[in-house]
Amino acid sequence: MPYLVRENLFIGNIRDAAEVLQNGSAEITHILSVLSSVSISFFTEWRSGVIIPTKEIKKVRVGDEWRSCLATNKVLYSLEHAGKELKLVRMAVPIRDMESEDLLDYLDVCLDFIQKTRKKGAVLVHCFAGVSRSAAIITAYLMKTEQLSLEDALESLRQSCESVGPNDGFLEQLKMFEEMGFKVDHASPIYKRFHLKALGEFYNRGEKIDSSKFGADPGAPTKVPSNEEASPIGGEKGIPSYHCKKCHRVVALQENVVDHVPGEGETSFTWSKQKSGNPFNKSDESECSSIFVEPLKWMTAVEEGMLEGKLSCADCEARLGYFNWSGIQCSCGSWITPAFQLHESRVDVGTV
Ligand SMILES: [Zn+2]
Ligand SMILES: [Zn+2]
Repeated sequence: MPYLVRENLFIGNIRDAAEVLQNGSAEITHILSVLSSVSISFFTEWRSGVIIPTKEIKKVRVGDEWRSCLATNKVLYSLEHAGKELKLVRMAVPIRDMESEDLLDYLDVCLDFIQKTRKKGAVLVHCFAGVSRSAAIITAYLMKTEQLSLEDALESLRQSCESVGPNDGFLEQLKMFEEMGFKVDHASPIYKRFHLKALGEFYNRGEKIDSSKFGADPGAPTKVPSNEEASPIGGEKGIPSYHCKKCHRVVALQENVVDHVPGEGETSFTWSKQKSGNPFNKSDESECSSIFVEPLKWMTAVEEGMLEGKLSCADCEARLGYFNWSGIQCSCGSWITPAFQLHESRVDVGTV
């Protein structure tokens, strides 16, 4: 039996979902399936003899313009009428129960669905065992709608259903969700680090990384801002940016920078100089002789698939830095992996 979590919100496993889909339910009107495949045939493969009629409403794929960690054209979700007399509406998202699986990029569509359907009827969120994936989604939902910390949301969910336990990778992502203010903020440094790590994993698995996963080129001709002086918003000084020292082309904006804590990292050797967490040692930041950025569309060398290489200015070809998928050590001692590095001596700081 599904467990009631909140009014009109249930959590369950595949057996609960199959039961509702086959026989209908007095209460449940909507189902959110979180399984490795969005296809209804997952149920038949799970137990032969389970036949569930469906009628597709729509299938939404990951777009090019949406710079998530998901591969372009992968199914984001499917929506269909399903079950007895096609009375239920089922949304399905393809998430595997693995620590490395991207949960964050599905949260918006899942939480939206839950929120909307709870107003019309009751929704069952289910995965295979009703332990990790469905619990992770509902935990995020409780965090967002009730402004609860990860720990409090999980504790609250456990009062309805004792056995829940999202996997460690999901817990880590839910913590990021909390730190981003209960939203998936693609501009946040937290998301950028997550995105970079995901790209590194793509690379290690031998997948081709195309530039649709890269940040926009701030120096692209179409993006040249016209008369910034005329900006009507008082006091705005423009966006901090980095320029090629030789030709002054914009190569990165402040928002492209992936921050690191100076002297921290997997194999940092600066422990004798600075212990992490000491707020009075900020001056050590000046020891970084590089800035690290997310991969940007002008970095064509990265698309060639090499493990490492030079980063050269797209206009004058001056050498600006280096990239290495397996990491580069900053002069402060921190390892940044993967690393897209601009040498401070090769770029100027300015505004656009
Ligand atoms: Zn550094
Ligand atoms: Zn240049």
